[in-house]
Amino acid sequence: MRSRGPAAPRGVGAIVVAAGQGHRFGASRPKQFVDLCGMPVLAWSVRTFLDHPDIDRVALVLSPPRAASPPAWLPDGILVVPGGVFRADSVRAGIEALAGDVETVLVHDGARPFVSAELVSRVVNGARGGPVVPVIAVEDTVKRVDEGGWIEETVPREQLRRVQTPQGFPAEVLNRTHALEDAGAWEAQDAAAITDDASLCERLGIDVATVEGDPANLKITTARDLALARAMVETGLIAAGN
Ligand code: C5P
Repeated sequence: MRSRGPAAPRGVGAIVVAAGQGHRFGASRPKQFVDLCGMPVLAWSVRTFLDHPDIDRVALVLSPPRAASPPAWLPDGILVVPGGVFRADSVRAGIEALAGDVETVLVHDGARPFVSAELVSRVVNGARGGPVVPVIAVEDTVKRVDEGGWIEETVPREQLRRVQTPQGFPAEVLNRTHALEDAGAWEAQDAAAITDDASLCERLGIDVATVEGDPANLKITTARDLALARAMVETGLIAAGN
């Protein structure tokens, strides 16, 4: 009988990126390590991925000093990886850590603690067919302004969406787009402008699908966001300890 070689990877991996400095948050330590009702912000999403039946491996990307001495609260079973200067560098470090072991990869910002198991399932299912991002409709009226703050136009909002994480990808697509970015396929000054992974697919003309996001899946950027997140737990909108 002919050997078929190594079996193709079939599992699903999650990369949680948390190597940022969080300068906009204005606290002594990055926002992802601040307490949120008894657990660090980061611990909430890490646990959701670890507990999820569809997720086989979790890679957590931390700043190099934190990766060298990971926090004591980190549960077992997580690959801790040192990140890079820009978010895209940190995602690439996560991809390398999961190297070839999984067929599908979800990438999540550690600054979004309230990712639900249902949202993870939606993204995993969507990602089996190609890149997918969770989105929510824009409710405000949206205007474009010039550099002086003067309104140039009202932008029709029907086709606009706010984009969240986790974003899901066939591993081969995520590897390919990040390898090209690493190889300098785009201008170096663009690195800071790559704020999500789907945008790399868009640059290559790879179709990206959407699934329904979750308004509770907020991103903690400022102290106000953290106060809102605490209120969501304290009022029972989010189950404490999920
Ligand atoms: O800065 P921003 O909030 O857009 O970062 C999004 C996510 O990317 C955060 O969870 C942050 O910790 C992570 N990040 C990273 N490595 C960087 C910059 C940001 O892991 N160099």
